[in-house]
Amino acid sequence: MIRAVYPGSFDPITNGHIYIAERASSLFDELCVAVLHNPQKRATFSVDERQAMAREATSHLPNVRIKSFEGLLVDFMRKEQSRIIIRGLRALSDFEYEFQLALMNRQLAPEIETLFIVTDAQYSYLSSRAIKEVFHFGGSVQGMVPPGVFRRLRERFPPKNSFRE
Ligand code: ADP
Repeated sequence: MIRAVYPGSFDPITNGHIYIAERASSLFDELCVAVLHNPQKRATFSVDERQAMAREATSHLPNVRIKSFEGLLVDFMRKEQSRIIIRGLRALSDFEYEFQLALMNRQLAPEIETLFIVTDAQYSYLSSRAIKEVFHFGGSVQGMVPPGVFRRLRERFPPKNSFRE
């Protein structure tokens, strides 16, 4: 039974994240999407909201579970008895940050491996931050987020104009 963990802020989950979860869940017996609770970073959505959105968005994937964690990822990995960290890669710009993170985690826990899944071209420009910015200023995020996220974005950032779909 091989369990992998896909950690992130998921603030909120986007179709890019879902694509990575779909591909990773097809490779392992179980995929745990782990929502990071970082008290030092102000998130737009609470951990509970981020977990609920992730749960809804991955309900078509029977071997995906949603959890949250605080503190060191390697501690959570050991608790989950998983040795595989999944991360998504968009452009070259992701690489340096991800490389540093992977090496740090290897230093802390040599038995754990970080595996990267390359995004689909259509999601290569998507980030949670960009979604929030576009939405906040009235742009369309059609095809970028699942319906549950769209609904919560609308509650959080009430519509200002008619461009938004
Ligand atoms: P973090 O705050 O840890 O960077 P994110 O929630 O932004 O977490 O992202 C979690 C993981 O998903 C990261 O590895 C990130 O590179 C990846 N990711 C984010 N957006 C996309 C996307 N559009 N396509 C593929 N992977 C993505």
